[in-house]
Amino acid sequence: MPAASLEQLASLCKRRGFIFPSSDIYGGLQGVFDYGPLGVELKNNIINAWWRTNVYARDDMEGLDAAILMNKLVWKYSGHEETFNDPLVDCKSCKGRWRADHIKGKCPACGSSDLTEARPFNMMFKTAIGPVADSDSFAYLRPETAQGIFANFGNVLSTTSRKLPFGIAQVGKAFRNEINPRNFLFRVREFEQMEIEFFVMPGSDEAWHDRWLEDRLSWWESIGVPRSKIQVYDVPKGDLAHYSKRTYDLMYDYPTLGYEEIEGIASRSDYDLGSHSRDQDNLGLAAKVAPNRDSVAKLTYYDQANNRHVVPFVIEPSAGVGRCFLAVLSEAYDEQMVKTPASDKVEAVQAALDTFRKSVSRTEKISAEQRDAITAQADAIGSDLGNRLPEIEQLLSMPGADGIEVGKKLRGVAQPVVDEFYRTVLHLKPHLAPIKVAFFPLKRNHDGLVSMAKGLRSDLQLNANMRTIYDDTGAIGKLYRRQDEIGTPFCVTVDFQSLEDHTVTIRDRDSMQQERILASELEQYVREKSR
Ligand code: ATP
Repeated sequence: MPAASLEQLASLCKRRGFIFPSSDIYGGLQGVFDYGPLGVELKNNIINAWWRTNVYARDDMEGLDAAILMNKLVWKYSGHEETFNDPLVDCKSCKGRWRADHIKGKCPACGSSDLTEARPFNMMFKTAIGPVADSDSFAYLRPETAQGIFANFGNVLSTTSRKLPFGIAQVGKAFRNEINPRNFLFRVREFEQMEIEFFVMPGSDEAWHDRWLEDRLSWWESIGVPRSKIQVYDVPKGDLAHYSKRTYDLMYDYPTLGYEEIEGIASRSDYDLGSHSRDQDNLGLAAKVAPNRDSVAKLTYYDQANNRHVVPFVIEPSAGVGRCFLAVLSEAYDEQMVKTPASDKVEAVQAALDTFRKSVSRTEKISAEQRDAITAQADAIGSDLGNRLPEIEQLLSMPGADGIEVGKKLRGVAQPVVDEFYRTVLHLKPHLAPIKVAFFPLKRNHDGLVSMAKGLRSDLQLNANMRTIYDDTGAIGKLYRRQDEIGTPFCVTVDFQSLEDHTVTIRDRDSMQQERILASELEQYVREKSR
């Protein structure tokens, strides 16, 4: 069962240290987030999985890490200065500012239709370069990583002696001054992109475009985002970006949002290399580009077989790390009953839920819409309480629910039942899990158990290069739940038998089965099961 809502994911992310609002101590900064101790591990694992598939597992790819700041001429000739705009409208009633294509003619804050005409708003951030901030001494924070690749095309070609087709892969930060950042990590102002520019002979671009679509869909599958949850949207001609000949948008079925773009796979023809090249008139370009009088480089490829210079066509698969992070978490998320709760416990929760529902339907303190939404949700949970009991926490965090006094009583009755009989678990693919193995001593005040558990933990982390953790702050059952909730695939317990025969028990997150194995075989065991 994937996550039911973005709120559910955001709450888990904050509670367990995956994601924090940026500058939290000063009230945050809209559209900017920080990755916490677990978030940075998951994010790095996603990036490594992408790099492994797209660079190491192929023989036609080079890597690159270009700077964020670039000469502003890059953004002039790429077309971003002129066209990287979103349509901005102001609400004349409440002064709210909105992206016109996201609001259907009505201000989302006050409902007024008294809006200004839409005008283009350029999304690139500017920053001053050097000590004198005059009108010319600025640079943009890059709004995409792609241009760093195009600007280095000649450098990579001449230093690697690559033949077409080949690609350049890059992961890095991008910045967009989004008018309305929203939906948690989905639309933010600072994010990371995983981008490939794949250079091919003109004429072979359509076949490569389709191959990349298949390759990318199988990568998503390999990280736990199934094809059945992705729709391929063939962007209609009239909606294509200025550089695009054809684009496939991969639309993932996000909780709360429905189908939204997770990756774009654009066929960019020779637009980019042609735009940044000198001697454009002699290149026989297919794309319409602005004249370039500033470039010092001819961005062509020498086609030896036909003794001619060509400007390669480009296929660009471009995915956002944050949107990927959300999809991976959403697919992995599950709430499961571990043991069947005794019927008197479920009845007590049912009674508290009924009281809460009655109180909601009578209260005048919240809007009719909030009342309807909460009662509908309470009914849905109540109709299948045994399975849906953990959703009571979400019910209590719905808008308006926090003001209902008997909600506290409901939480008080439900929470101990949830803790005892249910678990939240992230079924993350093991190679993505932030922590690979957690180590517990059976008793925390026993020196022998503690030192063996700590020793095994640090050996595995250092020698096997896997993030591991030691925890002795609760009973074993509670420690398991804590690891399940963050997706740790294996938990190892060191007990008295371990001290005698150097074996440990290892528990599998998904099956909850335990096995006893030799401590010396831990690394191999985990590696085999993580493939
Ligand atoms: P959208 O239409 O949703 O604004 P886009 O079509 O402008 O996205 P691209 O320019 O194709 O996006 O960027 C490639 C990828 O970068 C997107 O598929 C997405 O995963 C990611 N991305 C783009 N903008 C943002 C953002 N503001 N926040 C998070 N990720 C983003």
